[in-house]
Amino acid sequence: MPIKDSSTLISQPNPTTYSISDWRQGYQSLYDEHDYWIDDIEGQIPAELNGTFFRNGPGLLDIHGYPIDHPFDGDGMIVKVSFANGRAHFRNRHIRTAGFVAEQKAGKPLYRGVFGTQKPGGFLANIFDTKIKNIANTNVIYWGDKLLAMWEAAAPHRLDPQTLETIGLDYLDGLLKPGDAWSAHPRIDPHCAMDGGEPCLVNFSVKIGPSTKITISEFNPQGQVVRKHTHSLPGFAFLHDMAITPNYCIFFQNPVSYNPLPFLLGFRSAAQCLQFNPKQPTKIILIPRNGQDPAQILEAEKCFVFHHANAWEAGDEIFIDSVAYNSFPSPETDVDFRETDFDKGIPGELWRFRVNLTTKQTEHQVIDKRCVEFPSLHPEMVGRPYRYLYIGAAAKPTGNAPLQAVVKFDLVTEKQQIWSAAPRGFLGEPLFLPRPGGTAEDDGWLLVLVYDAAQHRSDVVILDAADLNREPLARLHLKHHIPYGLHGSFTGEWFSPSL
Ligand code: FE
Repeated sequence: MPIKDSSTLISQPNPTTYSISDWRQGYQSLYDEHDYWIDDIEGQIPAELNGTFFRNGPGLLDIHGYPIDHPFDGDGMIVKVSFANGRAHFRNRHIRTAGFVAEQKAGKPLYRGVFGTQKPGGFLANIFDTKIKNIANTNVIYWGDKLLAMWEAAAPHRLDPQTLETIGLDYLDGLLKPGDAWSAHPRIDPHCAMDGGEPCLVNFSVKIGPSTKITISEFNPQGQVVRKHTHSLPGFAFLHDMAITPNYCIFFQNPVSYNPLPFLLGFRSAAQCLQFNPKQPTKIILIPRNGQDPAQILEAEKCFVFHHANAWEAGDEIFIDSVAYNSFPSPETDVDFRETDFDKGIPGELWRFRVNLTTKQTEHQVIDKRCVEFPSLHPEMVGRPYRYLYIGAAAKPTGNAPLQAVVKFDLVTEKQQIWSAAPRGFLGEPLFLPRPGGTAEDDGWLLVLVYDAAQHRSDVVILDAADLNREPLARLHLKHHIPYGLHGSFTGEWFSPSL
């Protein structure tokens, strides 16, 4: 099925302007930890929406007044919104990682950040310092009766799901050893054929070096490891996310090389030492989930991918929908991220890759050129052919810009709907929640945190996923802002907020 650029089918026009100072305000630190029932609500929270939304992201953008140089270097803070019987309770807590506690006590940065932050004092203060702070800021998931905050280069932190207090590093019953990584991008197979149709959590650990070791680990709903296998791949690989199908874990090995010298010498962060090699292809790595067959590596159009939307199998073909950049959207050196020039940035676009397992040929098509990131879909469709994708998007149809809108792609009819918070609203990952008892793939809600620069506060916005042209079903006004975050998840479990 050819998918054309369908930006002309958008059902709602949008303002295309934003103010960079508005955007910048959303990256102020949130020092306070709050705990309250949300009482300033426009519209109505659906009575059937019951459970807990957790979201992770940087909470502090400075350490005792020392600004960090890239938001991805910010210490993790969990936002929790609990829904029950049409009411919602808010709580946020900074994660007490060892590094967070030490730096708060010292009153200054003690670590270099992976993405750009250097310790004060110039290169002499940073030279040969390769200590890594596990900042636990990228994702959070409730699985096997554990709430885990994840960061891709180290072990997860376990938190109390009621109070959000930090319990400590969690080595997953001995699966991980100190120093091991566990990705911040697990996937849930809703019906794992290898486990009799039970759901399972699939995640991976990466060990980088001259070659790359990927360990796949799969967990049953009780949190026990049911499969684990390690694969060695040639060359350096920067792997952020993974897609799954019933039979494969799928990675994209971006065409980047890593020269650690400027990092070791204290001039640059580790991420600033990544270099895009436009003459190399992107490699698609297919690792069979059964743990018995070897990995396959195929070449695809050159691009850089952080996040995959979904993947599925069809006969001897595999399809993968991903947010692709035509080069590495690297953090600018010597530029404070607060001064980012979005017009100079590279937009992420929704691409579809088609892999033929027999001929080993791959092809790709651009589904849409709008700048997008943070895809979400119905959890029952993970790894399966699907129709609807929801994704954070720029308000304007082309060019790089902050995310201010949510786009719903109908991948069958090629139509789109867009809900926009522009010009003064900014947002991140929309999360699709199915309506209990619903049968249609888009019968559910989208939860999205929107920073409202006009009020300098954030809203929890609940959209009707079936029709983004409707006004939001509810807009829950928080009493404060929340810095722009990264990934989150939802569980039907209810944790009493009164404890
Ligand atoms: Fe991510």
